Amino acid sequence: METKLLKRNIQVFLAIASCLLVILFTSVSTMGQDSPSSLKVATEPTFPPFEMQDQGTGELTGFDIQLMKAIGEAAELNIEFITLPFDGIIPALQSNTVDAAISGMTITAERAQTVSFSRPYFKAGLAIAVQDNNTNIQSFADLEGKRIAVQIGTTGAQEASTIEGATVSSFDSASLALQELINGKVDAVVNDGPVTLYAIKEAGLQGVKVVGELVTEEYYGIALPKDSPYLDDINNALGLLIQNGGYREVYQTWFAGEPPELPLVPPSLETAQVISFDWGKLFANLLQGSTITLLLTALAFTFGLIGGTAVAIALISPYKPLRLICRIYVDFFRGTPMLVQLFMIYFGLPGLFRELGLDFSFDRFPAAVLALSLNSAAYLAEIMRGGIESIDKGQWEASQSLGMSPLQTMQDVIFPQALRRMLPPLGNEFITLVKDTSLVAVIGFEELFRQGQLMVATTYRSFEIYLAVALMYLVLTTLSSFGFKWLEARMNPLQRRKAA
Ligand code: GLN
Repeated sequence: METKLLKRNIQVFLAIASCLLVILFTSVSTMGQDSPSSLKVATEPTFPPFEMQDQGTGELTGFDIQLMKAIGEAAELNIEFITLPFDGIIPALQSNTVDAAISGMTITAERAQTVSFSRPYFKAGLAIAVQDNNTNIQSFADLEGKRIAVQIGTTGAQEASTIEGATVSSFDSASLALQELINGKVDAVVNDGPVTLYAIKEAGLQGVKVVGELVTEEYYGIALPKDSPYLDDINNALGLLIQNGGYREVYQTWFAGEPPELPLVPPSLETAQVISFDWGKLFANLLQGSTITLLLTALAFTFGLIGGTAVAIALISPYKPLRLICRIYVDFFRGTPMLVQLFMIYFGLPGLFRELGLDFSFDRFPAAVLALSLNSAAYLAEIMRGGIESIDKGQWEASQSLGMSPLQTMQDVIFPQALRRMLPPLGNEFITLVKDTSLVAVIGFEELFRQGQLMVATTYRSFEIYLAVALMYLVLTTLSSFGFKWLEARMNPLQRRKAA
């Protein structure tokens, strides 16, 4: 009977596995087929009015998108947009994963050492955004010692890093940095002027203003891999559009007035800079990141254990409403992505409180610990419930007949045995948590992964740096698994006796 069932299970498993393989192969082969003549153009679509998703159709739109399409038409190239995080664009160009990128990217001397740029297609510059009621920040000089939010890997981030005594937090998008300002967690955002102005004027961003003049003069360019065969085609098409009014038309769809004159070579490329790569600094930064990763894991695991134990006990308690509430909690936190929970807590809760007329905001440390703890408590609760329920019912009865109270039974008989069974899954959960802490990078937390991203954003050595980051995680998880193995051995009465 049992072998029949096993056979049947194996058959089902094989059927599912072959279906998955077929799907995988067909998608890989269709991916390979996509028209060879199409130019894969990367963009980071949270940078309105340059690139964004149309609210209605969900399609990409914006100045850059339209301009690139017009360039594609003029150069007879079929454009296929690929969305990527901004700090992933240059690494993608370096590895030839994409053929070009249009993403409000400033032509800088550092970037020009690793990628090629087209002639400038837009004149922009950095601007400082502050809360409406802020009167003490008027210019760049006033940012000294202030808290500043930036988008990772941007010229704004670069500029902010030169300000003395300032605490800079980096976010994955300009809009998240602005959200941080609205929530009052930073004093200013240093970001591309046209983007901040558009967010205020067109997208109805409230409570924020731009102060002073543009801090820098920057030119955007289309980036391509070094020695790209498409560079001339793109430059010629862009030149043609500037001459025949096509450029002006696209410009006026998004901005008022006449487009400014654009130079053939931006001033930033007139002085070349050398990027030096410092292994010692990389190691020091990664070590610092690892400390934060470990601290986050340890705190979240401890709170998770406390919360998880309470929830597990509630789940096996005889009180139905309590069981129901805890079940909903567990299902919610296990059934929704950790990233969404983090965003809800960090960005969402302060907004909700503000709407309720309460002034409340979270620091990122408690927010990260809270989100990680709530999430791991849900998993840990299930591990503990399973462990406790796996102990034979007879043991309860035996303890009770010896006159032990339910609490005593749990504490002295059931839990010690259950704990031994729970250790391997607890170890798994700990290791998962070590890796999940990398998610808090999105709220500007400089843990291990973010430290790596920050280094890549200024040195563009993605392979070496991410490999070093991966190895660091491996060291942390291997050490944790040794720790749990040791605990398991210690809790095994047979091994303990042998050792004695
Ligand atoms: N212009 C800025 C830069 O190149 C920001 C670009 C962006 O965030 N898309 O760094």
